[in-house]
Amino acid sequence: MNDAAPKLLIHVPHSSTKIPDDVWQEFVVPRDAVENEALESADLYTNAMARQAWPSADILEAQVSRIVIDVERYDDDSKEEMAAAGRGVLYTRDHRARTIRQDVTVSRRDGLLERYYRPHWARLRSLAADANLVDLHTYPVEPWPIERHTHVSRPEIDLGFSDGLTPPAWVDALTDHFRRHDYEVGHNTPYVGVIDAGAKAAVMIEIRRDIVGTPGADPKWRRLIAALSTMPIGE
Ligand SMILES: [Zn+2]
Repeated sequence: MNDAAPKLLIHVPHSSTKIPDDVWQEFVVPRDAVENEALESADLYTNAMARQAWPSADILEAQVSRIVIDVERYDDDSKEEMAAAGRGVLYTRDHRARTIRQDVTVSRRDGLLERYYRPHWARLRSLAADANLVDLHTYPVEPWPIERHTHVSRPEIDLGFSDGLTPPAWVDALTDHFRRHDYEVGHNTPYVGVIDAGAKAAVMIEIRRDIVGTPGADPKWRRLIAALSTMPIGE
């Protein structure tokens, strides 16, 4: 390890359940159905997890629910495989592939991107430039009907990485670390790769939701925080 610890940035794209006032009118299902979908789609507590595990890191959270705008998606639908499932940067379908939102006009889409997506990415790129990035998520035990790759293993912790963005030595160190903490670790399964935000190094951590627990005294939560807070944060 070098004398100075690398700067760490935690990206939390999916913890919010917030629906802005002016977006409600776009949904075509009752309010409680929208709220339930925001809750089901959210990686609940990943914001609290980041703050508790890495109190001195930079933490960047999306400001609204992913069902309003998903900052983890490409803003160009032709590059985004989930757009075909109605879950591109602007969702029109729920996790069961039911339509929940009307198609958004081009100008409205641009307005939402301008308000929530572009500022988020500008901040992400600026914070990532001299940092090691951890893209933090949780994921459901059972695949959602809209998922594209469902016949693959769903380990307790999925490390997502990409050639050129993630040093293999970091993946090895993280794998050893979480296995020493008795977690089941998979590589690029069920989700593959890590976002390219221009970080020095980047890794995605996808935590299966049954091992998360609830913030506070819950033994599951405390065990997870203990493992995350001591994990290697770079090569
Ligand atoms: Zn997520």
